[in-house]
Amino acid sequence: MSDIIHLLPDSIANQIAAGEVIQRPASVVKELLENALDAESTSIKLIIKDAGKTSIQVIDNGKGMSETDARMAFERHATSKIKQASDLFSIKTMGFRGEALASIAAIAHVDLITKLEDQDIGHQIHIEGSDVKAQTKVSTPTGTGITVKNVFYNVPARRKFLKSDPVEMRHILDEFHRVAIANPQVHFSLFHNDNEVYYLPIQSLKARIIGLFGKSMAEKLIPVEEQTDFVKISGFITKPEASKKTQGDQFIFVNNRFIKSNYLNHAVRSAYDELISKEYFPGYFLFLELDPASIDINVHPTKTEIKFEDERLIYNYLKVSLKHALGQYSILPMLDFDAPQSAFSGFERNSDSGQSIIKPSNFTPQHPTQKPSQGDIQSWNDLYGKMSVASQSEAERNISHLEKEHLHLSEEENLLVKDQSSYIPTQLHQSYITFPVRSGLMIIDQQAAHERILYEEFLEAFQTKSIATQRELFPINISLNPAKAEIMRVIMEKVNTLGFDIVDFGNDSFLVHGTPAHMDSNQNINTIIDEVIDQYGQNLELELGLEDNIARSMAMSSAIKRGKKLEPSEMSAIIDQLLACKMPTVSPTGRSTSITITLNELFRRFQ
Ligand code: ADP
Ligand code: MG
Repeated sequence: MSDIIHLLPDSIANQIAAGEVIQRPASVVKELLENALDAESTSIKLIIKDAGKTSIQVIDNGKGMSETDARMAFERHATSKIKQASDLFSIKTMGFRGEALASIAAIAHVDLITKLEDQDIGHQIHIEGSDVKAQTKVSTPTGTGITVKNVFYNVPARRKFLKSDPVEMRHILDEFHRVAIANPQVHFSLFHNDNEVYYLPIQSLKARIIGLFGKSMAEKLIPVEEQTDFVKISGFITKPEASKKTQGDQFIFVNNRFIKSNYLNHAVRSAYDELISKEYFPGYFLFLELDPASIDINVHPTKTEIKFEDERLIYNYLKVSLKHALGQYSILPMLDFDAPQSAFSGFERNSDSGQSIIKPSNFTPQHPTQKPSQGDIQSWNDLYGKMSVASQSEAERNISHLEKEHLHLSEEENLLVKDQSSYIPTQLHQSYITFPVRSGLMIIDQQAAHERILYEEFLEAFQTKSIATQRELFPINISLNPAKAEIMRVIMEKVNTLGFDIVDFGNDSFLVHGTPAHMDSNQNINTIIDEVIDQYGQNLELELGLEDNIARSMAMSSAIKRGKKLEPSEMSAIIDQLLACKMPTVSPTGRSTSITITLNELFRRFQ
């Protein structure tokens, strides 16, 4: 038999390599921005068409390339950044693998224009699927411009699996944010479909964060600055009361490189442990600087993972540094550590006082996003408006229970106790509602249940437009960052159907004239809206319909949480409303809303 092994042609080898480096348009953006930074640019322009599916262009004023280098740059393992293996341990540039341009050129139509400072004339190269189609001399300013069109044009399987434009754009924005935060000394601008999304002049890190995430960030940031022999930690973290229910504005950079590390994220979160309750996340923009020899960034082709020589030391040091920063903001001394705490309650924020007063949640039974509950049925009624059946007579409620049982519940759950009126539901650890049923004991997760209730209410409200609006005496002005403003414009009309009255005020500002009538007027509207937008952005991955996504985001942002004390009338209302739902057994995100411990099981356990 003849020999059968042969070397793959470059174009195929590059396409295979591309699979590792280029997953989506955002990966192209990342690589091109990093190359522009490595070329010591001070001004970088990113121009996107159709979320990068049609075209991605990066124009820099960096050092440019010679005619030969311009061509060499597209060869695999072609790099100017390392010469020998030992250089790997002292890397200061973003790139060094020499794979990015070769990979991009293998799966797209690429146009490169570049000129060195000391030359009069520049060079242009056009490449399609690794083939150089044209190379010409051109007149162009110093620096490099690369245009990448039709990503994955020759890899249909990949192209087909690109997500919707908003999802792909979200990924591009994520990459852009990372690069822009790490380089406030560079001027960036970003255009999407001819709209200017960001214009970021050379500025301080704080100004850059505000430029990216909106003016409201200004009051939220606490500076961090700590140094020891082996690591320097700097940047900003957000005040505990500015924490959000969504993860998002969280960035850790090691030697100015964005990294993903659950371990370090955990360290940051643990510094806030006594300050915020479990479902909240602080924002952070942290920079760790340490000897390149003590880390290994080579572990992942896209270089977002990292190995530290002494991980535990970094963890502890980070945690202590942040506690120190938080303490300096005289937040820690205000806490009363002797206060009794339940398993789930953390600390809740008093957001309407305007001050950073933080109290253990036991002292503030209301969740900040909830209407104060006096325990009377009326306030609960206000809170949940038409959904509440608490105003019905006891007898009516019992009848409605019995009807609903048969309509919606599983066999087991169908066995609700008959004489329900004599039973008052109890709350366990301010998180679960316990309730006897004929087959045993039902335990309802108050948060999951309320999410389900609100979700269905909102979905229905899109049809019936039944949620009343409560007018604000003075309209509230919210200014959003460009990315959030773009989302706001998409969802505004629908959100207004759910009782808001928001109008576009231009320049990424919005005026809130009214809020849903059942929403507590003391609630911080900014926070709610911010959360709805964040949730909406995160849910885009799921490719839900617009209404579904908004209903889900609103439900998740405004549902009561674990840790909130409920009055018996409120618990009854939740039970009733849950049973009235079309799908009472799961939350909109698929969590169980209740479990039942059967008498059989109890019997077995006590044997
Ligand atoms: P790497 O960045 O890992 O070296 P790339 O494939 O991204 O590999 O780039 C290959 C080479 O092309 C770089 O090492 C650099 O010399 C050159 N290059 C790429 N982009 C630019 C740019 N915008 N300006 C100047 N040189 C560049
Ligand atoms: Mg590179």
